[in-house]
Amino acid sequence: MAAENLLTPSPGEIAFGADLIAGRIDELARQISGDYRGRDLVLVTVLKGSAIFLADLSRRLTIPHRLDFIAISAYRGASAGSSGRIRLLKDIDRPVRGEHVLIVEDIVDTGLTLNYLFTTLRFRGAESVEVCTLLDRPYRRLIEIESRYVGFTAPDAFVVGYGFDYRQRFRNLPDIHLLAR
Ligand code: 5GP
Repeated sequence: MAAENLLTPSPGEIAFGADLIAGRIDELARQISGDYRGRDLVLVTVLKGSAIFLADLSRRLTIPHRLDFIAISAYRGASAGSSGRIRLLKDIDRPVRGEHVLIVEDIVDTGLTLNYLFTTLRFRGAESVEVCTLLDRPYRRLIEIESRYVGFTAPDAFVVGYGFDYRQRFRNLPDIHLLAR
């Protein structure tokens, strides 16, 4: 094995296994399907990390809904702290005025990303804006913002797999792992 491979961070211990994730998504989908019955629902998903979660969540919802996607500047990394500014890389395709928006997120950490999305979608005249995040680190918040639907509380360690990447790798892993450095 090349020395370079030994130094490259790789997926370590499993933090949330595929079966556990699937079970929790079933529960979230049941809850969301009940709460939004009879309403015009649009799931707005943040590319790219949340796409895997969205695919599973959307297929378990028993109510009609449409999908839209937004892309913003990538994770700022620990060294950038709260100073990193969020840039819109791709906007949603259709207006959300009068619709009930559910933002689908992979993880809420400082809350800066979510705050940006929340404010932007509210400003566009959505009837309501709520958040469904697979993972949450409430103890890391820099901005007070709450998600209505939360899969699991995440450990204070970088995770990969099930959509979560390290330099665009490991998104395809079925489980969520801690990154071993
Ligand atoms: P926030 O703006 O809440 O600080 O950051 C949220 C974003 O940071 C997530 O959507 C995700 O892209 C990224 N992020 C935060 N923690 C992790 C992590 O443990 N692993 C990965 N791959 N991305 C993370």
